[in-house]
Amino acid sequence: MIKFLDLSSQYQSLKPEIDSAIAGVLESATFIGGPEVSSFESEFAAYQSARHCIGVANATDGLEIAIEALELPAGSEIIVPANSFIASSEAVTRSGHKVVFIDPDSDTYCVTASGIAAAITERTRAIVVVHLYGQPADLRDILHLAKSKNLRIIEDAAQAHGAELDGQRVGAIGDIGVFSFYPGKNLGAYGDAGAIVTNHADLAKKARMIANHGRTAKYDHEFEGRNSRLDSIQAAILRVKLRHLDSWIERRNAVAAIYQERLAALPDLTLPSVMRDRVRHAYHLYVIRTSQRDALAAHLSGQDISTGIHYPVALPNLRAYGYLDQPSTPFTSTDHAGQLLSLPIGEHMSTAQAESVANAVRAFFEKNP
Ligand SMILES: *Cc1c(COP(=O)(O)O)cnc(C)c1O
Repeated sequence: MIKFLDLSSQYQSLKPEIDSAIAGVLESATFIGGPEVSSFESEFAAYQSARHCIGVANATDGLEIAIEALELPAGSEIIVPANSFIASSEAVTRSGHKVVFIDPDSDTYCVTASGIAAAITERTRAIVVVHLYGQPADLRDILHLAKSKNLRIIEDAAQAHGAELDGQRVGAIGDIGVFSFYPGKNLGAYGDAGAIVTNHADLAKKARMIANHGRTAKYDHEFEGRNSRLDSIQAAILRVKLRHLDSWIERRNAVAAIYQERLAALPDLTLPSVMRDRVRHAYHLYVIRTSQRDALAAHLSGQDISTGIHYPVALPNLRAYGYLDQPSTPFTSTDHAGQLLSLPIGEHMSTAQAESVANAVRAFFEKNP
C-alpha cells in the first residue's frame, strides 16, 4: 500500500519531541499567545526570510485578513487563478471585493504577468498569486506589472513553505503572503493553523490587530477586528516540525526526480514543468495530466497506490460562483480539471516506493498509449 499522505508514520518518527512540546504547553497553562507562539513566529519569519510573521487560526482567515490589511477600496477587482482551492477566492469576496478569475499557465500551473495583464481593468487593485502545488509563480515580471499598474500582490503560499524563486523564499516577495498549516500541508499542525508574513511593518501591525479584535492592549480596541489566533499547542508542534521541514522537502524533491526521469516522453502524459534553474520546488503535490485520468487512477488504485485530484472542478465552475459573469472564452482550467492527477509524494515514501509508482504509471501507458 502506497499512501498519498502518512501523518501517523510522521508522528511516530517525531513522537518524543512532539509529546514533550505538547506537555510543555499543558504544564505552562498558556494556551493563547505566550512564548511558543512568539518563538514560532520569529522562527518561521526567519525561515521564510520575512521581517514579520503573524500566526493566525488558518490560511483561509489569513488570506482574508491580509486582503483587509491592504485597505483597498470596497468592490475592488482582485485577480485569482481559476485552478486553486476555494480559499484563494473566498477571501476576496468575503473581504468585500470582486473575484476575477484567470487561467494559470498550462505548464507551470501558476499565473503569469501576461495572463494578469489581459484581465486588468480600471477597477483592478490586487492579485492573489498562488504558488500552486509548491512551485513559486514567476513573480519577477508580475512585480514589474504590479508596480506599473499600482496593484498589490497577495501570495497564497499555503502549499509552498520553503519554496524559493531565484534564491529567495516565497511569501514576502509580494506585499503580503499567507501559509497554511492544515495537517496535510508540507508543514502541518495537529488541527487548523496558519500564518501571514510580510516585510512591511504597517501591514504586519494592521494584520495582527485585525486577527486579535482590533486591539492594541487588552481592552483597548481601536477598531472591530475578529478572533483568528494561532494557539500555543499548535505553535509548539509547528516549532518541532519546522526543524525537519528542509529534509522533508529534499525527500519530496527526490521522489519528484524519480517520477520526472521515469515518466519522461510518454505521449498522453504531461509532467509538471519546473523552472529548474530558478526555483526550489516544495512539491506539496506532484500533478500530472492525461486524457485517461480516471482509468489511470483506477489502475493505480488496483495496485494499492493512492492518488488525489487537485482540483476536480475549476473555481469558476463551482456552484458557488454561478453568480459571476464569466468571460465568453472558456477557461483552459475547465478542461484540465478532468485530466489532473496527483501522484503520491511525501517524506513517508522510500525510493523503492517512488519507483513502484513510476513503474505502475509507465506500465499503464505502455498498454494504453
Ligand atoms: C490549503 C489551502 C488554503 C487554505 O488553508 P487553510 O489553512 O485550510 O485555511 C488556501 N489556499 C491554498 C492554495 C491551499 O492549498
